[in-house]
Amino acid sequence: MSDKGKIAVLGAGPMGLAVAYQLILDGYKPIVFEADDRVGGMTASFDFNGLNIERYYHFHCTSDKAFLQILTDLNIKHLFHWKETKMGYWYLNRLQEWGNPLALLKFKGLSFLSKIRYGIHAFTSTKRSNWIKLDKLSAKEWIIKWVGAEAFDILWRKLFEYKFYHFSDSISAAWIWSRIRRLGNSRYNIFREKLGYLEGGSETLLFALKRNILSNGGEIHLSTSIKEVQLENNKVSGLRTEKNFYEFENVISTIPLPYIPKIIPKLPKKILEKYSNIKNIAVVCVIAKLSEKVSDNFWVNVNDPEMDIPGFVEYSNLRPLQNSIVYVPFYMPGEHSYYNEPDKFFIEKVKLYLKKINSRIDEKKFIDIKASRYRFAQPICETNFLDQLPPINLPIKGLYVADTSYYYPEDRGISESVELGIKIAKSIKVD
Ligand SMILES: Cc1cc2nc3c(=O)[nH]c(=O)nc-3n(C[C@H](O)[C@H](O)[C@H](O)COP(=O)(O)OP(=O)(O)OC[C@H]3O[C@@H](n4cnc5c(N)ncnc54)[C@H](O)[C@@H]3O)c2cc1C
Repeated sequence: MSDKGKIAVLGAGPMGLAVAYQLILDGYKPIVFEADDRVGGMTASFDFNGLNIERYYHFHCTSDKAFLQILTDLNIKHLFHWKETKMGYWYLNRLQEWGNPLALLKFKGLSFLSKIRYGIHAFTSTKRSNWIKLDKLSAKEWIIKWVGAEAFDILWRKLFEYKFYHFSDSISAAWIWSRIRRLGNSRYNIFREKLGYLEGGSETLLFALKRNILSNGGEIHLSTSIKEVQLENNKVSGLRTEKNFYEFENVISTIPLPYIPKIIPKLPKKILEKYSNIKNIAVVCVIAKLSEKVSDNFWVNVNDPEMDIPGFVEYSNLRPLQNSIVYVPFYMPGEHSYYNEPDKFFIEKVKLYLKKINSRIDEKKFIDIKASRYRFAQPICETNFLDQLPPINLPIKGLYVADTSYYYPEDRGISESVELGIKIAKSIKVD
């Protein structure tokens, strides 16, 4: 490594690690600061009583190009596998097949006309590439225009309400379109869905990146929360943690944007206002280990008046594991009173819901169950979202700030974070 100079990277999630990885390739010395005691951010793993597994589920689609490329570059592509997966829809107290044209036609509780309209919308969304007009439209209006009120009420409404609550009506159509397209195009053919996973989970990628960074002269400081990025005369001068001050002329932040006004309070007021206006939803994600499968599906959407969730993920139907592993995410705006409820509140709900969905599941089938939380799990991408973001390369010399918002209209994703991290590192200009 030629020594062009040291650059601080804030956050060791996939984006921060990708920034550091690329900086090394370009001859810099990245020094990564991570608040958590492990790398990974939303993709980090934990010890689930003997099973090392990520706190939140992760799957991959055929469009995850940057992710697949970095696996090749790190020589771990052989640990990645595609698998045919199934989807389900829990509606009218039964688990219905979902995710292909035949399942749509057989779906109980929806008129034939609504099924046709839904199918046309899903299909045309996978073919569309221009999204600029969709940025100005609300997802709800866009979907109702295409599929009608009946299909929206039955198939979409709960998915919006149990993710975005009072923000449901203002979500951008471009954001929802990119999700439909990503999943819709990840298939062997129109009847067979194709999703991917890494042996060992996301940690396999995280650890390969970490090894690469450390063995090439980079540094990763865990349990080191940055309290302030210091600015002097319109330039970066350094970083302050609880105990230390580090001199830096260049800082790349990949931590969630809502933290920025707190740690860089000397930014121009207009820029701080923009960060403060970006809203995020939080997640409380329950993970259950069971001795019996809940279903054969990887993903199940839920529309049930007795369940306040958009769906659940039976991860072990994608990545082979000894027991059944089910993730049940409860999304909500972080200010929602729900977010203050203890883990037990969500865990008890999950037990009830899974028992209702599969009557063979009883208390004895739960081997273990836990909950994890992430306060800034997803930016709320409202209409005209692009206009709300300050530039990544800020008008302060040496300061770059990004998070998952910056690849809008794509949903937060490992591939997108890796791609953006690499792009930012390549754009760095140091005198
Ligand atoms: C429930 C759930 C399901 C998901 N499913 C998928 C999926 O199926 N497929 C997929 O590709 N993606 C999925 N994702 C998204 C994926 O996890 C994220 O896109 C990705 O982790 C974002 O990485 P990042 O590095 O940009 O941000 P983050 O993972 O948020 O990393 C930011 C890091 O900054 C650190 N930090 C914060 N403040 C400070 C500070 N002051 N000082 C130092 N460090 C700080 C944090 O601890 C964190 O490690 C999912 C996420 C969730 C929550």
